[in-house]
Amino acid sequence: MIDEKGILFILSGPSGVGKGTVRKALFEQDTNLKYSISMTTRTKREGGEQEGVDYFYRSHEQFEQMIHEKKMLEYAKYVGNYYGTPRQYVDEMIEKGHDVFLEIEVQGALQVKENFPQGVFIFLIPPSLEELKNRIVERGTETEDLIINRLKEARNEIEMMDKYDYVVVNDNIEDAVRKVQSIVQSEHCKRSRV
Ligand code: 5GP
Repeated sequence: MIDEKGILFILSGPSGVGKGTVRKALFEQDTNLKYSISMTTRTKREGGEQEGVDYFYRSHEQFEQMIHEKKMLEYAKYVGNYYGTPRQYVDEMIEKGHDVFLEIEVQGALQVKENFPQGVFIFLIPPSLEELKNRIVERGTETEDLIINRLKEARNEIEMMDKYDYVVVNDNIEDAVRKVQSIVQSEHCKRSRV
């Protein structure tokens, strides 16, 4: 019998590693996949981030109200701001048979692991920390202080990689996308899911 529920995929990896790029490429090719838009208290980045597309931008008070009402599947504080996954969308899509993709940092992923152990946890790593720094600097969206903080977080995050089911090195974007696609396909073929 085919399990009609979707699969929850969790993609983590340090800031600047290319999670967003991999995710966007993946979505162009997989129409059954749904992206869970996160909620955050950070401000929009200059250059075109949009409410309801990149994030739901909320105040600290609004975010804490969501936590209080138990409407978050997971949440974490990252470099001074809250980030979290609203629970309702994920539950509804999985129930309808769609795969759902979360692009979140490590503390949040570990919470998902407790509440949703059947999720598939993928960690994207840069070829080196030096390369990661270059990518964040080239992105040009962060001040020097923020870059230092993000690199500090990156080291902490990389230490948690053994908690994940899969590790993909993002050396080259096409290869990384192909690898994540094959993880998605393999998970659908797992005997425990069919
Ligand atoms: P950024 O400020 O660069 O958009 O995101 C900072 C970090 O927060 C990234 O590692 C990103 O993956 C993570 N993040 C984004 N949304 C969520 C979320 O809903 N929950 C958690 N725990 N982390 C998130």
